[in-house]
Amino acid sequence: MQGRKVIITGVPGVGKTTVVNEALKKLKSEGVEYQSINFGTFMFEVAKNDNVVQDRDQMRTLDRTVQKRLQQRAAQAIAQITGNVLIDTHASVKTPTGYLAGLPEWVLREIMPDTIVLVETDDDQILMRRLNDETRSRDKEGSRAIGEHQQFNRSIAAGYAMITGCTVKIVINADLLLERAAEDMANVLR
Ligand code: AMP
Ligand code: MG
Repeated sequence: MQGRKVIITGVPGVGKTTVVNEALKKLKSEGVEYQSINFGTFMFEVAKNDNVVQDRDQMRTLDRTVQKRLQQRAAQAIAQITGNVLIDTHASVKTPTGYLAGLPEWVLREIMPDTIVLVETDDDQILMRRLNDETRSRDKEGSRAIGEHQQFNRSIAAGYAMITGCTVKIVINADLLLERAAEDMANVLR
């Protein structure tokens, strides 16, 4: 069987990585294997090599054309991976000059995902999670701005579905309900 490509998105701090890791634990015990990769890490490897940033959270403030070049190189590398692949990334990236599509047409045509998952929760929960996360340089913004970003991500995901014919699944990662989110995610991947 041909491998499946599933793209996982969600605004910073929503808990994408946590939900993915929990879902993958469940699947492993059932013998379902996915290679889990992070789009930002692929971009960061290129960016470090080219000496344009030191920290992964600096990438979204780079010039738009530089971000797009890193994005294209990451997409080309990821397209080579075979089997079931799960790609942790962003539907859109908040840059100083506005939202940058995380999966513009040339990236989608490289990857051709089967499904795009949007991990979401209430705006104020995301705000609190960002304030409590000291490991990352998260954007400091209010819940209204977080809400706008989540709304924009739904809109752009509809565009991605139009280009690729992929399905779009919304998984809610609410406070204290990680188990439910992981189960919903696992059901997409099974
Ligand atoms: P993350 O660790 O998922 O927050 O990703 C780190 C950084 O990688 C993000 O802040 C973006 O600058 C960049 N990034 C990740 N995925 C994409 C993408 N699809 N397009 C553009 N930039 C991305
Ligand atoms: Mg993450």
